Amino acid sequence: MAIDLIPKGIFRGVVETVREGVYVTDRDRVISFWNRGAEEITGYDRELVMGQTCHHAILEHIDDRGERLCGDRCPLVLAITQGQFHETEAHIHHRDGHRVPVSIRTAPVRNEAGEIIGACEVFGDISSRIATARRIRELERLAMLDPLTQLANRRYMEASLAQKLEECRQTGLGIGIVFYDIDHFKQVNDAWGHDTGDRVLRLVATTLLKSARTFDILSRWGGEEFLEITPNVDAASFAALVARNRVLVANSEIRINKVALRVTVSLGATLIRADDTLERLLKRADQLLYASKEAGRNRATIG
Ligand code: GH3
Ligand code: MG
Ligand code: MG
Repeated sequence: MAIDLIPKGIFRGVVETVREGVYVTDRDRVISFWNRGAEEITGYDRELVMGQTCHHAILEHIDDRGERLCGDRCPLVLAITQGQFHETEAHIHHRDGHRVPVSIRTAPVRNEAGEIIGACEVFGDISSRIATARRIRELERLAMLDPLTQLANRRYMEASLAQKLEECRQTGLGIGIVFYDIDHFKQVNDAWGHDTGDRVLRLVATTLLKSARTFDILSRWGGEEFLEITPNVDAASFAALVARNRVLVANSEIRINKVALRVTVSLGATLIRADDTLERLLKRADQLLYASKEAGRNRATIG
């Protein structure tokens, strides 16, 4: 039975008002408080998580490399065993299966005698929801929205690419493009049906969109192919972004009854060059994607 560590009254009212997710666990990491913000960001209602341990198939925090924080590196454990405060960024698992980038802060919870009786985590969604809503409205207005995934469609992307090529020629700034193609997607349709295939397309789109920065442009390029433009990158930050997105897709899932369905993507990524034409750029990215497929899939090739 979970101990109720948050007293009723004014304080609880305040915690329920904040937009951030707030939850409290006892020393065994059993969840004893879960606010409305946590429900919104994660999709998990309070009833589903109260009394559960947080590392047990709920949030499953992972870092940019896809490594779980829930073992030795769990910030709650550090708070409970060593009284440490901790601040970091991670990607949590949403109940719908996609990943959500969050900033998290953790702290020990002490009783009046100063003994640590649990830990508290405050986390905020750092994928700008408002920017997303604005982006969808604008694309709808221009008839450049892909209705299934709510991403920009190919027509919009072609116009954006032309613009970015020109920008690169004039400024020389680092702009990357990334091709994503879902691996063995035909098998997903064959085994689970077309509607499930559609859900998987939305899952991949949502995970990629949530981790995109506000100035990145993500589109559905064709059936199960996505194309992204990532301005303001250098070779190192581009490589990190590409690696992270591959990992995040591989760690996303939809649930069908109790079965978790995951897919992977192969990526072809390249920086725009000053002498690129649209055809040359797309051909290079496509060849890099093909190299990822040839090398065994679920990998990225940067060139
Ligand atoms: P590979 O790893 O080589 O990419 O294999 P694959 O099976 O993903 O490649 P292939 O290009 O043969 O299959 C793509 C499939 O995507 C075939 C097509 O039926 C499916 N598809 C395209 N658009 C949609 C869609 O809107 N919804 C669904 N459910 N399936 C789609
Ligand atoms: Mg394909
Ligand atoms: Mg494919």
